[in-house]
Amino acid sequence: MYSTGGKAPIGELLRLQEKYGLFLFFDEAHGISTVGERGRGAVLEAMGGINDRTLIITSLNKGFGASGGAIFLGRKGSQDRRDLALRNGGPLMWSQRINTAGLGAVLASVDLHRSDELPELQRRLQENIDLFDRLLPTGLSGDGLPIRFVDVGSEDATVHLAQALLERGYYASPIFFPSSPAGRPACA
Ligand SMILES: *Cc1c(COP(=O)(O)O)cnc(C)c1O
Repeated sequence: MYSTGGKAPIGELLRLQEKYGLFLFFDEAHGISTVGERGRGAVLEAMGGINDRTLIITSLNKGFGASGGAIFLGRKGSQDRRDLALRNGGPLMWSQRINTAGLGAVLASVDLHRSDELPELQRRLQENIDLFDRLLPTGLSGDGLPIRFVDVGSEDATVHLAQALLERGYYASPIFFPSSPAGRPACA
């Protein structure tokens, strides 16, 4: 919903959209599957349904547990936008085209999202997030999303911390500029 900056003020942005007709672009990479009814994410949960002035993109490699990405567009008048995105927005860096095995994983994950298992998985994840927030408060504590950034200081210390955590069986991703603000490396 707002990458490494934490959670975007969705309700306020939607109110501004209603008042001034803002076009909104949300990145739901951290919210899809992990929150919302059937894992629809925080933005659709707040909006109820997509509208024509909102674009949501998400990764299917994170909470969704498969591969690829997804773009949510409004139904009405979105054909031009859809054509534009498909013509000019092919992958340049990260996830590439979904392969056959990946498509199978997407379909299996869709089934799981429709099942009663998802709310239970979301609940258990939320418990872990709450526990983490109690043990290690960060600037993002309490936002309901499963990503936390722990400022470590120097880049060397960040790498060493990630290595030490991995040795103890925990994977934390060391992130640097431009994933995090310049001069603020962190473990995510
Ligand atoms: C991981 C991530 C992406 C990119 O997702 P890919 O599947 O690697 O393309 C985009 N935005 C945010 C906030 C992410 O965490």
